[in-house]
Amino acid sequence: MKELPVRTEGAFAKRTNPLAHVFDEFVRFCRSHSLFMLHYCTGCGAIELPPAMTSRFDMERLGIQPMVTPRQADILLVTGYVSVKTLKRIILTYEQMPAPKYVIGICSCTVNGGMYWQSYATAKVLADYLPVDLYIAGCMPRPEAVVSGMRKLMGLIKTGKAESWKDYYRRYDHYLGNQQALFGERWQTPTDVLGEAQQYGLHGPETEGEHTALLQQVQQPLIPHRMRLK
Ligand code: SF4
Repeated sequence: MKELPVRTEGAFAKRTNPLAHVFDEFVRFCRSHSLFMLHYCTGCGAIELPPAMTSRFDMERLGIQPMVTPRQADILLVTGYVSVKTLKRIILTYEQMPAPKYVIGICSCTVNGGMYWQSYATAKVLADYLPVDLYIAGCMPRPEAVVSGMRKLMGLIKTGKAESWKDYYRRYDHYLGNQQALFGERWQTPTDVLGEAQQYGLHGPETEGEHTALLQQVQQPLIPHRMRLK
């Protein structure tokens, strides 16, 4: 099978045609105005999303639409406290989203654990496990704050500053180490993050390390589940 070409940062840096930058700006403008938002409602902050999306605040007028699958989603909303069990699903979901992808932490609980700061079952700092582009703090933030946060993200995308998804590839060993500390040494997902890092040209000195080495020792091939009718 023919191998896909690996793009490198250097190849991007060598772009000299001024029209390429005009085109890049146009793409970023279009991208910032057509965002699919995956909302796996993880906490009480989710209750502010229906008013933010429906007629009164009408988030759709900004070009933001809810999406039910990670495969076509651009934004992952984490809408409140995250239990250890939920965080596993959030990471699985995040890794299935195509790049470029953006994470928004809604509610103070995603910043520092909020009122669950002492809970044994709650992950305190979301950014330890995933790169977060934007926080919308509050307990819980009102729909105006949610819409304002979305506008802020759109601005970051338009100016090329919403790049934190690249950090997941560049510093994968750091994120994986935090995930292993929480979930145990046998933690793994079906996604080939190292392969994707190569593919995006983002494989760097911090992509691999002791934690990815441990992952490679314990990683199991995916075994499909048998369908049972009863
Ligand atoms: S910040 Fe408040 S409203 Fe939001 S998830 Fe935490 S406890 Fe719930």
